[in-house]
Amino acid sequence: MKDIVKNVDLLCPLCGNKLFDNLDVDCDNLYDASEEVCFKCANCGCVYTESQLIEHNQDVIDESFEDIKDEALKQMEKEITKMFKK
Ligand SMILES: [Zn+2]
Repeated sequence: MKDIVKNVDLLCPLCGNKLFDNLDVDCDNLYDASEEVCFKCANCGCVYTESQLIEHNQDVIDESFEDIKDEALKQMEKEITKMFKK
């Protein structure tokens, strides 16, 4: 699941911007005892943890997961066709 998330453009829940500044260095000041990576929206400046962003973008992630699944199936079909052609 983690790998899929990396391939998805996470959008700012507030403004829909997809550019974020990585804040993992300053994170401790913003969230107590958080080991999570924080992202700051480059547009509106809102700060989110990774899990918050994933939660807000669950639909997009689910869609991408479906795409990846379809792609994998197609690839598999190709391989199987090749196998039978030999
Ligand atoms: Zn924003």
